[in-house]
Amino acid sequence: GKKHKVTVIGSGNWGSTISKIIAENTRENTDVFEEEVQMWVYEEEVTIPKDSKHYDEANGDKPQKLTAIINEHHENVKYLPGVALPSNVIANPSLQDAVQNSTILIFNLPHQFIRNVCKQIRGHILPFARGISCIKGVNVSDDGVSLFSEWIGEDLGIYCGALSGANIAGEIALEKWSETTIAYAPPPMDSRAPTPRSMSPNPSAGDLPETTHRDVRGRVSKTTLTAVPSEYPPLDHKCFRTLFHRPYFHVQMVSDVAGVSLGGALKNIVALAAGFVDGRGWGDNAKAAIMRIGLMEMVKFGKEFFGETVQTGTFTESSAGVADLITSCSGGRNFRCARKAVEKGISVQDVEREDLNGQKLQGTSTAHEVNSFLKARGLEAEYPLFTAVNGILLGESTVDDIPSLVSDT
Ligand code: NAD
Ligand code: 13P
Repeated sequence: GKKHKVTVIGSGNWGSTISKIIAENTRENTDVFEEEVQMWVYEEEVTIPKDSKHYDEANGDKPQKLTAIINEHHENVKYLPGVALPSNVIANPSLQDAVQNSTILIFNLPHQFIRNVCKQIRGHILPFARGISCIKGVNVSDDGVSLFSEWIGEDLGIYCGALSGANIAGEIALEKWSETTIAYAPPPMDSRAPTPRSMSPNPSAGDLPETTHRDVRGRVSKTTLTAVPSEYPPLDHKCFRTLFHRPYFHVQMVSDVAGVSLGGALKNIVALAAGFVDGRGWGDNAKAAIMRIGLMEMVKFGKEFFGETVQTGTFTESSAGVADLITSCSGGRNFRCARKAVEKGISVQDVEREDLNGQKLQGTSTAHEVNSFLKARGLEAEYPLFTAVNGILLGESTVDDIPSLVSDT
């Protein structure tokens, strides 16, 4: 039979780490996957830093293409320096070429770039490809709020699940143990052997026609799906677990795509708030209060806008919920940049530009996007912490206002 070909779309701090994980697993499971993993790289000219072991006196500070550096030295010297990538990760600057003939597409890039990327690959992917979104953010438009798993699926006409967890990339790249959550509720046609309803990974699928599935809001999806040909191994929970699980990266498979996607997106707003109070010097009690209130607003948001499918337990029990909230409020980039911004009296965007060497925060834009969605519905007061973070980013509130703004929660 055929094997699955995997492409990772994105090669930042997390994109490179996920490519490493996947390439280790494709190498160990060549009966299911092609060994080579394509990694699409947003091409740029990079100077190898002097302290890198790949610095070459002869080349000096001459900028080189990032894809060429990765393919020669097997290291992303800009976004994941000091970590060896398996030699079966192939950096590719062409989106269309990287996704060609891939049955599994892993979306892993800052959320602000995903629309443009999808526009370029539409029509260039296999109609029966399946996706996993590792993106932490939400998509807000005039129509409302959508999740990237949902949006990618509709835009490309494929089914797309989500991966999210307490996953600070740098720690996982060094193979320090962590957990993650993958939500995948495949369309009924993907489960080859009929599974008893109670055991089905997608119990809500019910009696839908073969070519469709229920979306994350429990509605019959408008997307007509194409079946994965039977020559391929089934693209089910077992397959995705094999692709992502490592001794240092423990995978829990679930079906709540909305809860997993929302947890990863909304915690970034809370992490900014944690950074603000820490930068103000208020200590651990204040940070714990921020996490408690933040978690409540995350659950409320999920129930209010994705209530048909979202499970409270995804927020309170999974790695994609409370665990990601805790790690992000301890050592994440949103937390660290917000803390420094308050300490220095400068904007979070300035810290991002100065300190992150091209890495992108997701919390600032998510705070604005969620706020514009809530404001349009007159709901700002019901989410006082989310609203306070947006106000602080805009200079309309200060950190000292937080206790009174959230006092009834
Ligand atoms: P990153 O912050 O390292 O971002 C930089 C990436 O964006 C680089 O690959 C860069 O080449 C790319 N880029 C810059 N301009 C671009 C453009 N115009 N078009 C397309 N790409 C462009 O990225 P990351 O950390 O890999 O984050 C990807 C997603 O993963 C985010 O949603 C993030 O929240 C999530 N995430 C990150 C971590 C982490 O610890 N880094 C952990 C879990 C989840
Ligand atoms: P930051 O983007 O704030 O670093 O968060 C990383 C993350 O998602 C940890 O799970």
